[in-house]
Amino acid sequence: MNLAFKSDCEQCFGLCCVALPYAISADFPINKDGGVPCRHLSTDHLCHIHHELKHKGFNGCVSYECFGAGQYVSQKMYDGQDWRNNPELSKEMFTVFPLTQQLHEMLWYLDQALCLKEVESLYSELQNMYDETVELTRKSPEEILQLDMQSHRSKVNRLLVEASQIYRKISRKQEKKSLEYIGANLSGRDFKGSSFRGMLMISANLCHADLRKVDFIGADLRDADLSHANLDGALFLTQSQLNSAKGNVHTKIPEFLERPKHW
Ligand code: SF4
Repeated sequence: MNLAFKSDCEQCFGLCCVALPYAISADFPINKDGGVPCRHLSTDHLCHIHHELKHKGFNGCVSYECFGAGQYVSQKMYDGQDWRNNPELSKEMFTVFPLTQQLHEMLWYLDQALCLKEVESLYSELQNMYDETVELTRKSPEEILQLDMQSHRSKVNRLLVEASQIYRKISRKQEKKSLEYIGANLSGRDFKGSSFRGMLMISANLCHADLRKVDFIGADLRDADLSHANLDGALFLTQSQLNSAKGNVHTKIPEFLERPKHW
């Protein structure tokens, strides 16, 4: 994994814990408006309940991933000027952060696609899109606020779908429609080379499932049980997706991800 896209909370001003709103749900035990610091955020910008997030009902924090946008906005875009000491910057900083997070997420996926030897035929298009996206992150906050993010996301997405189909050796016609697997018992099933794109798989039982080369982009794996499952070569699987799922020491995970501490 390119370390630029790995979140480094020590270098961030706790932006996700301030800029983003949350509401009482299975993911959060309390409400908070965007732009308001979470009550658990310390003055050093770190979360003081970091090791008990799941236990205290902050599952949304466990499954959130900034892809390195937090430290990028804090240290590069705003040159280390934090919102506590520079309140005049806060509104802009909190608005530009989620947009930069989207750009970093796209870069993370493009970077992963560029590491796949199977999609060599797309390398130059992927590299161009990667470079174009990097250029967008280098724009000023004012310019980023004016970006047509939807249109850029669509271009990136088309390329990622193509890369995924080549990698999984599936043609567009063969691609099966996504189903919802909330709470489904899929234990031991063979899903090798399938697409779980954007699929809701909350609390699904995927124990012992063959998930090799599965495309997981945008799949909701909260509390899905991946114990003994084989995720070798899984595509577009993020650390936050793994963190939000259950698993054990026998779950085979891609080498660029870390085994969650609670497994
Ligand atoms: S609970 Fe911790 S990680 Fe979650 S928003 Fe609050 S400070 Fe951030």
